[in-house]
Order: sequence, then structure tokens, then C-alpha cells
Amino acid sequence: MAENVMMKQTTVTFELNPLLKGLNCLRCDRQFAPDDEILDKGTGCPNCLAEGFPVSLVCRYDSGASQLNDGSTRRMLRFSPLLPYKSFPTIGEGDTPLVDLPRLASRLGVQRVFFKNEGQNPTGSHKDRMSGLAIARAHSRGKDTVVAASSGNAGASLAAYAANAGLKCVIVSMSSISPMWEAAIEFHGAELHIRQGQDDRWGYMQQMVEKKGWYPVTNFLNPPSGSNPFGIEGYKTIAYEIVEQIAERAPLAVLVPTCRGDVIAGIWYGFVDAHQRGLISVLPRLIAVEPGARLERVLDGEDYRIALPVPAHQLSSIGGETATYQSYHALKESKGMAVSVTTRAALSAQKTLGAAGLYVELSSAAALAGAEKLAGDSQFFNDETLIILGTSHGYKEMTQKHSWSV
Ligand SMILES: [Zn+2]
Repeated sequence: MAENVMMKQTTVTFELNPLLKGLNCLRCDRQFAPDDEILDKGTGCPNCLAEGFPVSLVCRYDSGASQLNDGSTRRMLRFSPLLPYKSFPTIGEGDTPLVDLPRLASRLGVQRVFFKNEGQNPTGSHKDRMSGLAIARAHSRGKDTVVAASSGNAGASLAAYAANAGLKCVIVSMSSISPMWEAAIEFHGAELHIRQGQDDRWGYMQQMVEKKGWYPVTNFLNPPSGSNPFGIEGYKTIAYEIVEQIAERAPLAVLVPTCRGDVIAGIWYGFVDAHQRGLISVLPRLIAVEPGARLERVLDGEDYRIALPVPAHQLSSIGGETATYQSYHALKESKGMAVSVTTRAALSAQKTLGAAGLYVELSSAAALAGAEKLAGDSQFFNDETLIILGTSHGYKEMTQKHSWSV
């Protein structure tokens, strides 16, 4: 009698967090169930969009999620009690160092300065915190292809995580993409589709989402709403780690290089979670650092949907002419502010960080340039501790050596 051999097929599944109640609109507060198809269209709240306001959604959890982490040492996965998926593709993201910079604190005239080094993530940037969760969502919705509009970190990160999970990945970029990032994206087997400009890039991505059913991870609306709301949840873990890593409970001012505000929004949600659980008594001030006055003007009353051209600059990861509702919401709720910096100031800050042993992308160094500008204007409180969010490593960026001579 022939032996009946059963072939065991391995199927990867990513488990939705049962404590996820749904997603709410930041502006009108309408709630959507976790399985609502609208959540995966990449267009945010349909109500607000119909009124002409692109607005992103945010995850809400049952109060049963009393702890930030599960007590394990699974890096970012240990925060799964407050993430939309209990499991997701992981290649070692999270638990990045918080580096104490006492000389810089003295120079800026504040108590403490810490540098949160997101360049230590697997693909060298904070985007790794978003990619795994967005991929988990795409996979659990039966999608075989993810797509993102990116000329840098998001593309390199999504390509790596899609490869890890066995999904196809398309990155829609522009001809100006750095060859370093191009190589990183293609190395993981992702397809690079080149378009002519931002509008063309977003329009193409929208077409592919609607016609081919590709799963959108980044924004394609214009004016924008923001990236995938499940992915943005990953940025909460930056705040969770900061809360764990800082022993004293001084008021915090957190400086975040900001483009369309996925990170600053996610960090805000994370600090609110920590505050609600009594882990911090005072919520931090969030400070958006940008290459020109976009959010600065929105906070002064400008409509967030209007394109606000910024001066020419080399801060490629935080470029663009548009703000988002989610950034505005995070700054307003945190009683924060926005500060614009020049390329020259960012180059100088990059050099300062280099002298402290940290090699970061120019757009990340912009956060320190923002701190220097605000310190010069006496905008920090004496008892405040500054957190500089270093979003990305410098190795991937093409840097002209002569430009360091500032
Ligand atoms: Zn809404």
C-alpha cells in the first residue's frame, strides 16, 4: 500500500489585532469598520473628500489594550497590542538608539538633546516602521502588488518588505531619483516606473490602483491626505520607544523633518497612547521642520489644501508644495509649531552631527537646523528636553563633498 504523503503547504498569514475597533476620520470623526473596503482605496475619509477636504483616517482600539508592549524583546513587533496587526513582515525594524548629545545641549542652551537614530533600521530609515504594517494589510486583503510614489527611503523600504513577504512591488518615481536609491529599490526585485513630475506620478499611481488593483502604500491624492493609515500606525512606535528610553520625565520638544506628515502624525498618536496610559504626565510639543513655510503658514491660517511653493532646496525627502490635514492636526493638538530651514543650514547641521559621530541624510539633519534656529530665537523652555528625529542614514544619499564646506 502506497504511503499517502501529505504535502504541507506553508501559507503566510498576518493576524489583524482583535482590539482594533475601526478607523476614524481626523476631521469629521466618522468611524469605519476594520474590514470596510474604503480603507484600502488610499483616498482617506470619503465624507470629507466629497466636501473637498482630503483627510486621513486613524486607527482606534478597545480600551483592553492597556499596555504599549507585550513584554517581549521582539523589537517593533513587541508593540503589537497597539498596532493594527498582531503579526507583520519583519526584518529587524525598531528599537533604534536614542543618543545623548550633551555638547549639543550646551550649545543650544537646553537641558538635554537626544538624537533618535532611525537610520539604524534595516533599510536605513524610519520608513521600515510603515512598510511591514502596510504589507500585512495588503496581503490580508488578497493583494499581490503594492505600489508607492517615492524617490527614496519609502521606495527602498517597501521594496525590501514586499520581497520579504513575497509580494510584487512597484515604485513610481521620477528621473531625478538618486542612483543609490534606484539600486536599492531594484536590488529587492521591485519595478521602478519613471514619470515626469509629481502630478504625473500621483496620477499614474491612481490609475494603477483603480485599474489594476495595486495596493496603495503612499499618497496619490492632490492635494494629499497622507500615506496608508495602517502603515502610519508603525510610526507610533517611535514615540513608545522614546517614552521607554528617557528615564526622567522632563517636558519634551520633538523636532521632526516633515513633508506630508505621516511621521509627525504617527508620533503624535503614539505619545497620546502613552499619556492615556499614565506613562507620561505631559504631552510633548511637536515641531515640524520643513524646507519652506508650508505648515508655518497653515498654522497662521492658510488653507492646508493650497500649494505653497517653497524656495529651491536640496532637502529631497521633505520637498513638495503641499501640507496635509494630519500634520496640521498633530501640530495644533500638541501646541507645537513649524520652522523652515535652508539647505545651507541643513548642511551645517549635518556637519555638526558628523562631528558627534552621526552620519545622516541632509533632510534628517534639517531637524537639527530647525533646533538651532529656534534656540537662536529663544523658542525653547529652560526645562525642555529636545528630541531630534534623525529619519535616515546618510549612506544612501549622493553627497557632493564640496558642499560640506559651508
Ligand atoms: Zn471625514
